[in-house]
Amino acid sequence: MKIAIMGAGLSGLACALTLEKYGYQADIFERRAMVGDRFVIAEAMFSMFHTPYDDAVKYLSETYDIHLKPTSNLQKVFIYSKNETSFIDGHLGFTNMRGKHSEAYEKQLAAQLKGKIRFNENVSYEDISKEYTHVVMATGDALDTEKFQPYDVAFKASFKGAVIEGEFNQTEAHTFFNYDFAPKGMAYLLPHSDKKASLVLVYPQYPENELLDKEQLWEKCFEECCVKLDQDFKIIHDYSIKDYRIGKTEFPRIGNTFFVGNCWGAITPVFGFGQFESMLTGIYAAQDIAGVGNYEKLVGPLSQSYHDSLSLRRTMEKLDNKKLDLITKSINNKVVESLITTNKINLFKIISRIIHPFSRHA
Ligand SMILES: Cc1cc2nc3c(=O)[nH]c(=O)nc-3n(C[C@H](O)[C@H](O)[C@H](O)COP(=O)(O)OP(=O)(O)OC[C@H]3O[C@@H](n4cnc5c(N)ncnc54)[C@H](O)[C@@H]3O)c2cc1C
Repeated sequence: MKIAIMGAGLSGLACALTLEKYGYQADIFERRAMVGDRFVIAEAMFSMFHTPYDDAVKYLSETYDIHLKPTSNLQKVFIYSKNETSFIDGHLGFTNMRGKHSEAYEKQLAAQLKGKIRFNENVSYEDISKEYTHVVMATGDALDTEKFQPYDVAFKASFKGAVIEGEFNQTEAHTFFNYDFAPKGMAYLLPHSDKKASLVLVYPQYPENELLDKEQLWEKCFEECCVKLDQDFKIIHDYSIKDYRIGKTEFPRIGNTFFVGNCWGAITPVFGFGQFESMLTGIYAAQDIAGVGNYEKLVGPLSQSYHDSLSLRRTMEKLDNKKLDLITKSINNKVVESLITTNKINLFKIISRIIHPFSRHA
């Protein structure tokens, strides 16, 4: 058996590590010169979106021997709509670094690998499929999947983000649901440290949103963030991403070609989280290759979660700022808060129920 993994990101490396545990050495091709060769950003894994696992980091460590050290745990998430503020607290999840940061999750995974990564190899499927019996597509790009099979794009996302300087509590995240600057999307702030944080604005590129001025939306978003957190933040550097495809493949595998991470459809459409899902798909593909699992079956629950999340997104898209205010206010209700933070039930379904009465009349 000769296994090639295209891409040394979260899914590719989780796949390679799992294969090594079963005694298989894959050739890993990475087009960049190093692992995590992109801008530094803080990302998060929220327990409430990973039901039934209340601690994804512990689960990866205890179940799959993949060890990750988050930057911080999250104990409080503030929710701001146009005129309301609420928060949820508890053991909510973790923040972690990505990209060029020395503690980026992809770098932590690469450090656990015994085999070598072949850098600066922007390989094409056509080339490697001749030489290898198994190919794992882990390039993080749905466009690569679309060359082989239908990829149902739920929407293309536009991101604008920055690393900002200020005073932060590392255990607190801030989320903004205000369609004035995040049309049908959201903005969020995740601390890197007590002095730096990532501020990200993300929204779908629907035709009506494409008419809006991205820079103006960003300025409003940044201003709102300064006002709500009562600070004069300084932008250290910023970045912009367009046409980021969020969707899902029709087939998790075709013959001995496995689609993992974003190439499979790991990003949950409602809030754009995909790290845990990416690593799981990499692990599951490795289990199939090693003959201890069936990839199509293993990704079943993740598929379900994708669809639940997509339904929730479609419901949220029917709301407006007034309704977002009502929902934000309702989160201050202890019963609603405890429903959101429970890890016993599927959160996407719970939130759908909470916002259903608001969306019905929208
Ligand atoms: C701005 C932003 C913020 C996000 N925030 C969060 C968050 O807070 N929480 C969360 O859970 N998720 C978040 N996500 C989603 C998460 O980052 C992705 O779901 C996850 O990284 C996907 O993993 P992957 O393995 O598919 O791809 P990646 O981790 O992107 O890895 C792909 C790798 O393949 C390499 N590559 C590409 N093409 C080739 C080729 N032809 N040959 C060889 N190598 C190639 C790339 O260089 C890269 O190293 C965010 C995404 C973005 C864009």
